[in-house]
Amino acid sequence: MHKIKNLKIKKLFRIVDRVNSYSAKMASLSDEMLKKQTKVFKARLKNGENLDDLLPEAFSVVREADKRVLSMFPFDVQVLGGIVLHQGNIAEMKTGEGKTLTATMPVYLNALDGKGVILVTANSYLAERDAQEMGKVYRWLGLSISVGVDQKKEIKEKQKKTIYASDIVYTTSYALGFDYLIDNLSTFAEQKYMRAFNYVLIDEVDSVLLDSAQMPLVISGAPRVQSNLYQVSNNFILTLEKKVDFSLDDQEKNVWLTERGIDEAEHFFDIDNLFSEKYKELFKHIELALKAHQLFKINRDYVIEDQKVKLLDSVNGRIMEGTKLQSGLHQAIETKEHIEATPETRAMASITYQNLFRMFHKISGMTGTASTAKSGFLETYNMEVVSIPTNRPTIRKDLTDKIFVSLPEKISALIEQVKSLHEKGQPVLLVTESVSMSEIYSKILLEQGIAHNVLNAYNIPKEADIIAEAGQLGSFTVATSMAGRGTDIKLGPGVARLGGLAVIGSEHMKSNRIDEQLRGRAGRQGDPGLSQFYVSLEDNLLIKEGPDWIRKYFEKKSNKIDENEPKVLTRHKFTDLVKKIQKYKDEQSHDARIQSLEFDENLRIQREIVYKARNKIIFSKEILNQEIISLASKLFDIFLSNRKNLLFENLSRYILDNLNYDFKFDLPKNNDRKSIKKYLIKIVEDKIRDRQSILKNDQQLTNFEKISILKAIDSSWIEQVDNLQQIKLAVISRQYSQKNPLYEYQREASSSYGLMKKKIMLSGLKNFMLSDLVEGKNSEISIFFP
Ligand code: ADP
Ligand code: MG
Repeated sequence: MHKIKNLKIKKLFRIVDRVNSYSAKMASLSDEMLKKQTKVFKARLKNGENLDDLLPEAFSVVREADKRVLSMFPFDVQVLGGIVLHQGNIAEMKTGEGKTLTATMPVYLNALDGKGVILVTANSYLAERDAQEMGKVYRWLGLSISVGVDQKKEIKEKQKKTIYASDIVYTTSYALGFDYLIDNLSTFAEQKYMRAFNYVLIDEVDSVLLDSAQMPLVISGAPRVQSNLYQVSNNFILTLEKKVDFSLDDQEKNVWLTERGIDEAEHFFDIDNLFSEKYKELFKHIELALKAHQLFKINRDYVIEDQKVKLLDSVNGRIMEGTKLQSGLHQAIETKEHIEATPETRAMASITYQNLFRMFHKISGMTGTASTAKSGFLETYNMEVVSIPTNRPTIRKDLTDKIFVSLPEKISALIEQVKSLHEKGQPVLLVTESVSMSEIYSKILLEQGIAHNVLNAYNIPKEADIIAEAGQLGSFTVATSMAGRGTDIKLGPGVARLGGLAVIGSEHMKSNRIDEQLRGRAGRQGDPGLSQFYVSLEDNLLIKEGPDWIRKYFEKKSNKIDENEPKVLTRHKFTDLVKKIQKYKDEQSHDARIQSLEFDENLRIQREIVYKARNKIIFSKEILNQEIISLASKLFDIFLSNRKNLLFENLSRYILDNLNYDFKFDLPKNNDRKSIKKYLIKIVEDKIRDRQSILKNDQQLTNFEKISILKAIDSSWIEQVDNLQQIKLAVISRQYSQKNPLYEYQREASSSYGLMKKKIMLSGLKNFMLSDLVEGKNSEISIFFP
């Protein structure tokens, strides 16, 4: 029995009791009867019951199905987690507690009303694995389930309709985001495959909603004109000297030219003033080259694979496939690495994960580490974090940090410890902060004659095998923080007796949550295990992000280090340091998330309006003649509100440009506003009749009208997305000029929105009026837009 102090949990346990009260009944049903419950539940929903009413019985049914199909019966704490998930909150459940199985209960229940459930996992491997395993249960119970990703091949647009029409979809946030954006670029109702967002359950929710939250997903389109300034700027940067020609801030997040550097540039390029309008592009490219060289490091921020620069996720160390830095930075890094620069593309559509998930009717999540970010979840997503007790007590030993002054001292002490663990046969997972450090430790271990596996962004395909081996007697694994999520390290025979898996951290991660994820690889479901982190004052986290006194202390001590006798620092001011820095970093990223939300708000509102307008047109069944006329009428009012435009010259120009190429200027005698407007409207009405006669049937006419307007919306909207991105970058880089960047952004964003709206109307009308419709051989009609 669980002894529970927490009131909230106590209350939830009452629902668990109700689920339990049906156990005997469900166990007594035949397979056929149990399967039939799905139909029964659906009927009850139709008759007015709601999901909460069904929960106890439905959970009990899934539990029994889990047992019959997977031979696993969800524990009470898993049922508890399932209830939290159904209620739209976050279930914090430790690693190895069985979150995958827990999900079957809320997913089944929420799929019963047929509006669709999406389960998001941390990567496509897990989506496929979990869908395959848990899918057996859903299918057994008569629900349909699909996977939204395919590791081996691209999913065809045609298949997506079936996928998203399923009761349940297992996918990744990346795939979901892209599908959403692409779905909203389609032209015909038949091409659209997504349903309204209903219920989403996010596995490893902190990773998706916090760590990757600000990363905008971007769909890129037509390339911009490629600039040839990357190479010359790169060459110029190589002539500069740090601290003389350019400076970096303490945390190495920003870099800028000094007075000297500016002089150098003007000399190098033989120009008079780098800041003049004429050299704006050059200046931008110099800044990009500086950033590429000074702020981005190979094997820490990116790797080079197949002659491509691929970004690494700073938190989990994985390659972010398909993501590129925007606005020329990617090209600057390519130039630095002597790789042919990829075309710089325009953003066609973009959304951040935060905004993607906020569109769901109900959102829930599970992870081993959420409570430190409690307030963030509540503030941004209105989700509560509920910590679920473990099924069995955790007996893993989390040892206190070992802190040294210098890196060499730390490394030699660490190697001593892992050697002695390894000699006993205890499996070791050595975690490093970057790909380059994983390679350095790997080299040292080889010198010491310790055979080991390396798991980093370069060998993801072997991930499952490496992890499967990691808990065996005598195995040794070096890994970046990517070892932290989703895959379960099972102990081999005899290992528990030795103390289970030892997780040794060679450095603390930026966030305490990530440390905890790594510790959680050991000691799952009551297994023994140990975890310990090694720290030196030279670690990035301390020297870059820590207070000034660390640097001073280090400089003072570093010349009197005796490597044979490394001294462990134990004073309180050292042992507390990491916690403080991590807390500060967490607060910083929290602020950054809020800022990015604020910045994104304009884009979000505009996107929603535009997508809604698109959908209305796509799904409308009627002829849009009336819409075309009212569009025209609005435009004419705007045009004629300027007196000058009543003049023959301006008026005829307007007609030629927008309404009719071969216009025979028989303007009305009265050139008052009303008569002219009437006259213009008549041109439009005549054209509609003309179109009608060529297009023969209403369906074709409607389609032509739809395409005319959608094309106008899309080309203007795509331009606007790109535009907003540029504006954002511009105001952020102007941040130092004291203006409030958010306010500046909002002002420019809304004025550009007004312009876009006008542009959409005008080019929609133009598309309709000026396109050539040409009949082909099979009486097909081709459209040539103006
Ligand atoms: P988590 O995602 O919480 O880290 P997993 O879902 O990967 O954990 O599950 C860890 C292991 O526990 C898996 O091997 C799974 O099969 C097992 N497991 C989960 N729930 C149960 C259960 N109720 N009974 C038996 N084994 C279970
Ligand atoms: Mg998991």
